[in-house]
Amino acid sequence: MIWAIPAIIAVAAAIAIHFVWRSKFLRQSRQLQADIEDFQRRQQQTSIDAKAQQQVLFNSMIEGLLLLDRSRKIYLANRAFKNLFDLKIELRGKTVMEVLRLHELQELIARVETEKQVLDYELRLPELNERWLQVNASAIFNSGGEREGTILVFHDLTRLKQLERTREEFVANVSHELRTPLSLIKGYIETLLDGARHQPEVTARFLKIIERNTQRLDLLIQDLLTISALESGRVKLELQAVELHPLVDKIFNDLKPPADNKSVTLLNQLPPLSATGDAHRLEQVFANLVDNAIKYGRPHGRVTVGGQSLAGGKIEVFVQDDGPGIPAESLDRIFERFYRVDKARSRDQGGTGLGLSIVKHIVQGHGGEVWAKSDLGRGATFFFTLPRSN
Ligand code: ADP
Repeated sequence: MIWAIPAIIAVAAAIAIHFVWRSKFLRQSRQLQADIEDFQRRQQQTSIDAKAQQQVLFNSMIEGLLLLDRSRKIYLANRAFKNLFDLKIELRGKTVMEVLRLHELQELIARVETEKQVLDYELRLPELNERWLQVNASAIFNSGGEREGTILVFHDLTRLKQLERTREEFVANVSHELRTPLSLIKGYIETLLDGARHQPEVTARFLKIIERNTQRLDLLIQDLLTISALESGRVKLELQAVELHPLVDKIFNDLKPPADNKSVTLLNQLPPLSATGDAHRLEQVFANLVDNAIKYGRPHGRVTVGGQSLAGGKIEVFVQDDGPGIPAESLDRIFERFYRVDKARSRDQGGTGLGLSIVKHIVQGHGGEVWAKSDLGRGATFFFTLPRSN
C-alpha cells in the first residue's frame, strides 16, 4: 500500500500537467489562429488597397481603357472609356456588342485575336457631333503562351481632326481668295498684251482694274498676316490707358472720304471713357467696325459710335448703322474667318472677309467680348466690352 500514495501523486501530477499543457496548447493554438486571421485580413486589405490603387490609376488616365477576358467579356473599363461613350451602367461581364452596338469595334476585337496587335486604328463615331477615336489594341498572353484576353486603349482625336479640318478649310479659302484677284490681273494683262494696249481708253480702264485687284491682294495679305500673328499669340498687347472719344474722332477723320462718297454722317456719341488697351489694336477694332458700317450701311445713312461704363470695371462700346442689317442666322457666323452674308457685295466693297475675325481676336485678347444685334432692314449694331482703366 505504501506505493499507492506516490502512484496517486504521480497520476495527479500527470493529470495536472496534462491540464496545464492543454490549456497552454489551447491558448497557443488560439493565438496562432488569431495570427493567421490577422495575416489573412492584412493580406485581404493589401489586395483591396492594390485594387483601389489600380482603379485610381486607371480612372486618372486620359485615354479610355478596356480590358476583355478571353471570352470577349468586359473585365475592366475605366472612367475615360465610359465618358467617351457616355455609358452610365455597370459594364463588367457584358460584351462590347451588348453595351455599344459598334460592329466596327467588334471586328477590330476579332482582328486583334488573330493579328495579336492592331495599332493606330481610326474609329469614326457617326453621331450628331461626329467624333474620331484612335484605338490601339493588343492581345494579352499568359506565361504559357495562351491568350488571356484583349486590351484596348482609346484616344479621342476629335479636336485634332477638327483642327485639321479648320486648317484645310483655311488653306482652301486663302487659295480661293488669292486666286480671284490674281486671275483677273492675269486675264487683263493678257488682253493688253494681245493688242488692247493700242487703245488708250481701254488700257486706262484695264490698268485701273489691275490696280484695284493688286490693292485687294495687298489688303488680303495684310489681313492674313494680322490674323496669323493674333492666332499664334505672337502679338503682345502694349497696354495703357486709352481715351476712346479722341480715338474715334481720329478713325472718323481717316474714314471721312468713303463716308462722304456715300453721304454717310458719322456721329461720335462716346462719353469720356478710358479703357486699358493697346491703342494701335483698338484703332484697328474701331476702323474695321466703322468701315463696315459705312460699307454695308445705306447711302445718306448715319453711323453712330457710343458707349457706357458697366459694373465690374468694364466699358461697353457700340457701333451702329441704319443700313439693311444682318439676318439672324448669320449674326454669330459673321465673326468666322471668310464668312460673308453677301459674298459678291463684300468683294465689290473690297472686303477680305477677315475684318470681324480680327476684331474678335483683338477684343478677346483684351479680355472682352464682341457680339452683334440686328433688326433686319433697320440696321446693325456691334457691341464690344473692354476693361476700364479707372
Ligand atoms: P468683309 O471684309 O467682307 O467686310 P468682315 O469680317 O468685316 O468681312 O464682315 C463679314 C461680313 O459681315 C460681311 O461680309 C458682311 O456680310 C457682314 N457685315 C459686317 N458688318 C456689317 C454691317 N454693319 N451691316 C451689314 N452686314 C455687315
